[in-house]
Amino acid sequence: MLYTSTRDKTVHVSSAQAIAHGISAEGGLFVPEEIPVVDQAFLKELSGLDYISRAKRVLSLYLTDFTEEEIDFCVRGAYAPGKFSSEKVSPLHTIADGAHVLELWRGPTCAFKDMALQLLPYLLTTAAKKTVADKTIVILVATSGDTGKAALAGFCDVPGTRIMVFYPNDGVSPMQKLQMTTQEGSNVSVCAINGNFDDAQNGVKAIFTDPDVAKKLDENGMMFSSANSINWGRLVPQIVYYISAYCDLLADGTIENGDSINIVVPTGNFGNILAAYYARQMGVPVKTLVCASNANNVLTEFLQSGVYDRNRPFFTTTSPSMDILISSNLERLLFHLAGDDDARVRGWMAQLKDTGRYTVEDDIKEKLQTLFAAGCCDDEATKATIAKTWHDGYLCDTHTAVAVNVYEAYAAKTGDKTPTVIASTANPYKFSKAVLTAVTGKEPDGIDEFAQVDALIAATGEPCPPQLATLKEKTPRFLDCCSREEMAQKVYEMLGI
Ligand SMILES: *Cc1c(COP(=O)(O)O)cnc(C)c1O
Repeated sequence: MLYTSTRDKTVHVSSAQAIAHGISAEGGLFVPEEIPVVDQAFLKELSGLDYISRAKRVLSLYLTDFTEEEIDFCVRGAYAPGKFSSEKVSPLHTIADGAHVLELWRGPTCAFKDMALQLLPYLLTTAAKKTVADKTIVILVATSGDTGKAALAGFCDVPGTRIMVFYPNDGVSPMQKLQMTTQEGSNVSVCAINGNFDDAQNGVKAIFTDPDVAKKLDENGMMFSSANSINWGRLVPQIVYYISAYCDLLADGTIENGDSINIVVPTGNFGNILAAYYARQMGVPVKTLVCASNANNVLTEFLQSGVYDRNRPFFTTTSPSMDILISSNLERLLFHLAGDDDARVRGWMAQLKDTGRYTVEDDIKEKLQTLFAAGCCDDEATKATIAKTWHDGYLCDTHTAVAVNVYEAYAAKTGDKTPTVIASTANPYKFSKAVLTAVTGKEPDGIDEFAQVDALIAATGEPCPPQLATLKEKTPRFLDCCSREEMAQKVYEMLGI
């Protein structure tokens, strides 16, 4: 199987090349030229296997240039027993009749990013050996909070790699900030930037595509790759857990083979929900993909109207990992929906760059509306949903609450009773303040992050994952903050070139 670029269909690369390079030279994203198809027998067979075996089967459909041994090595390393706090890796938890929360945050950093970022370093170093042997891979990450820590944890002390993470100084929770600034490892670096996530992401993209920077790295035996969700190696592990969730529902008799499910995803950069789209295109019976946004509802509007317009106020919300106005992975969806028409994608992306908006034509709009439902909710509604869901017996974080809220509104409006998988993307203790406020009905005043954790334990009796609780004892290593213009310089500094 080969991969092409959303902005240049004459590109044909192997999966190893797509993963090693992260982004195509002209700025497009790598996509599979054909999406592999699975049938009911495949899903039935997978429902009898464990997560590692399911992942191997699904990955081997996409990474056809990896040997069976390589895939086995990668997957076993990533999801080794003990790395995730559930032997199912991403277990389902039923919160109401027909509503099943898919817990994607059981990994080392307590956010769903671990599902992909535990695997990516294995895929990337394996891919690099095949394609660009001898080069040190330099990973640059722009993070809205969770990717940064999950990437640092995944790449920490991985031979042949260096990693540098940029995060918006006022755009991440104190817990997220501490998770990153205390990261150990000799190949890691972290820097805050004055700006929001889009500034960080645009800055990283600019460095990536700057030929002078690439030349300088090359002279020093280095090359960039990306751990952001624009890297195909981030997306492909995410397809696995949607297929796995379907198989779990099959295995426990909640659904019969062939039955449809809906999937609801709290969305920021459009990576997680795009993985659900790929699962659907592969033949997993998915009726509706529900895209849930917070007050930064650019995607809600787009999926409903066909107009993508980032010229709007940017809100800092209690679900910061979704505070995004440019959802990079949407480009991949548009390429597929446009029948692989790279010229159309180039046109939309040029308009987005120049004017901050574009409008898709009716053919695309119709397809979007057949596939997707979309909704959004603000912080007040998020809080109310956390309180209600906790009252019914389940403690969820702010991002998950956005998804639950949008799902409930969707179900009430449509009467759709299809069994539904709701992606749960973070452990509630990553966002203790907002969750505590929701559960107790009042703002915790004057107490620090860890006192809030203790108060949340006292209020709910739910355990705090040890990797968050023990942050209290650690001292931050990385205190730098720079402007967007200084980012390239920071990268040189950290690499010593
Ligand atoms: C990254 C993240 C999201 C958004 O996922 P995308 O793939 O960017 O759409 C949602 N919730 C949490 C907790 C996250 O870390």
